[in-house]
Amino acid sequence: MRLWIGIDDTDSLEGMCTTYIALLLLDELIEVGEPLGLPRLIRLNPTIPYKTRGNGAVSFQMEIYDLDRAMEIADEVIRSFAELEDENTNPGVVFVEEEKVPFLREFAEMAIKDVLSINDALKVIERLSIPHLKYKNGRGLIGALASVGARLDDFVYELLAYRYPERFGKPRICDLESFYDLDLRFYPVIFDTVDWCHNVVMAVPGTPCPVLFGIRGEKIEALKEAINILKTESWEKYAIFITNHATDMHLISDGEVRDFRSYKIVGEVVKKPYEIVGGHVFFEIRVGEQILKCAAFEPTKQFRNVVRALIPGDKVEVYGSVKNSTLNLEKINILELQKQFVELNPICPSCGKRMESAGKNQGFRCRKCKTRAFDKIRVEIPRKIETGFYEVPPCARRHLTKPLIRMKVAKRHIFR
Ligand SMILES: [Zn+2]
Repeated sequence: MRLWIGIDDTDSLEGMCTTYIALLLLDELIEVGEPLGLPRLIRLNPTIPYKTRGNGAVSFQMEIYDLDRAMEIADEVIRSFAELEDENTNPGVVFVEEEKVPFLREFAEMAIKDVLSINDALKVIERLSIPHLKYKNGRGLIGALASVGARLDDFVYELLAYRYPERFGKPRICDLESFYDLDLRFYPVIFDTVDWCHNVVMAVPGTPCPVLFGIRGEKIEALKEAINILKTESWEKYAIFITNHATDMHLISDGEVRDFRSYKIVGEVVKKPYEIVGGHVFFEIRVGEQILKCAAFEPTKQFRNVVRALIPGDKVEVYGSVKNSTLNLEKINILELQKQFVELNPICPSCGKRMESAGKNQGFRCRKCKTRAFDKIRVEIPRKIETGFYEVPPCARRHLTKPLIRMKVAKRHIFR
């Protein structure tokens, strides 16, 4: 029978990686089946508090000849490789017949945008009679189901290269320059490999997981060709996943703003930006009757200069996740800029020089010409920002955040 197999929550912060275990499982299942198409790596709601590292789940499709044996194999793989001793690792595996996939669409959308409980997953499993494996509290069932059910209207490809097991946990040997070479040659088909301004190679993780590097792009052939440029320790294998990375699939554009969800929402700036210790910049917008605090935290680097230049009256569309009632900006679309004025001392009508203060509440005077005036004058000054889209730099981007290079919009201010 034709099955989608979904797997999640097998890794911990200390090691392993669900993509790696999913590929091991895929290999083992060849004993009882035949893989169909590329595996999928689906990122779920990035604000979920109990998530493991990247909150990503994996699914793949196979023609399976013996489901019972397939489930035994999956159980062996999970017991051998998942980080079961970690209290935050609660694996789940599901085996979903193709006809049932449409009934998981809504559940998957909720898992990416909203907050679901383990009970929600168990209810779906029961209603649709989905064969599954559940370990400990089984939280991984949420992602396992979602990775099968997610509909990808937009997607990119992610090539992940894996280290030899004896290298796990050791420092990665990578010539970082070669990743810049890759970017020069393949951008924008392959994007978010490096951050030129901040000297960060995003393609190489800093965690002890089995991944040596990961590159993402629009075309499979480009990814396969690009890895020949890279100079690194040798890799054991690589795999290409279809993913919802860089798609903004986590954003909700209507309804009440709540914590642990991500939004794309229009409002008017009502509070001048202010900065707190640590370089975090905040401002407030009015959305209907609600006031929403927005933040550009220190890691968003030069993006904060855009935010600092906002003034009350500006109309903006903000993109980002809400936590502690504060929207953490990933992008901003400046729709309208208010005129900005400064108040200056008046100009002497006689000599044309700027007048000086004549003392507290005494107005202004020109000492030389003996002219006087009472009020300051308002002078319009040019704004430091333009309308259009601005984004956080690559080093501050989330997996799900759609970079401007992928957005077909006018007036993009791309940070590369
Ligand atoms: Zn004068």
